[in-house]
Amino acid sequence: MTETLVRASNVRKSYGHVEVLKGVSLTVKPGEVMCLLGPSGSGKSTFLRCINHLERINGGRIEVGGDLVGYARRHGKIFEMNPREVSRQRRGIGMVFQRFNLFPHMTALENIMAAPVGVKKVERSAAKARAYELLERVGLSHVAGHYPAQLSGGQQQRVAIARALAMDPELLLFDEPTSALDPELVGDVLDVMRQLAADGMTMIVVTHEIGFARSVADTVVFMDGGVVVEAGSPAEVLDNPQNPRTVAFLNSVM
Ligand code: ADP
Ligand code: MG
Repeated sequence: MTETLVRASNVRKSYGHVEVLKGVSLTVKPGEVMCLLGPSGSGKSTFLRCINHLERINGGRIEVGGDLVGYARRHGKIFEMNPREVSRQRRGIGMVFQRFNLFPHMTALENIMAAPVGVKKVERSAAKARAYELLERVGLSHVAGHYPAQLSGGQQQRVAIARALAMDPELLLFDEPTSALDPELVGDVLDVMRQLAADGMTMIVVTHEIGFARSVADTVVFMDGGVVVEAGSPAEVLDNPQNPRTVAFLNSVM
């Protein structure tokens, strides 16, 4: 494995004439947890979506596990990647969204089995056993047969995390995973994420949960206006921010 799992260099992304990412550079090492903070509209979701092939970048480069995201290199030249290669890369990256995005017509267990069976061609019995294990890991084996509508938002989000884990990703992306939850349900989801971090999962987490960032993140990155304004340890960025924009943002959320 490479020293760096994610390397973003000068990443640019525009929608029409509006440049949303204006040269974002950052690196994430294997096993590291990076928390990405920033005001609404600063480009956090766009950046995650670029890493996960949901958006195509207009400039710079992103590498995950040594692979160039979205492009292939042959004989020193760069080509657009074929769809097959894109799906291969995407299989290594799990993503958990603000809205839980579970398949409504499938039980919790079936949601978790769906991609291993459908995409990875894992045998149903093996996928089922693994799905139970994962439900146990997120504290939900007792609701294996429930449909999403029968679960609380926090439970749905934990199923979504289990579903992402079922593909054995080398990287997990979280986009404000607790923002849509009732306050009393946030803790259980953060506890699952904290446990994943302790187990060595590499994670990039967009969040406004400063307490979580302080206790779990190896690196905190503050973005504003499509650029990285400040990055460093939680102690540096959260407790001793250097940039006035970081200070103003932290005052608004803490
Ligand atoms: P954040 O997640 O930090 O709130 P986003 O990445 O969602 O920020 O959005 C950054 C900017 O890009 C915003 O101004 C948003 O309106 C714009 N944007 C996001 N997605 C699209 C899109 N699909 N088309 C046009 N503009 C978009
Ligand atoms: Mg967002």
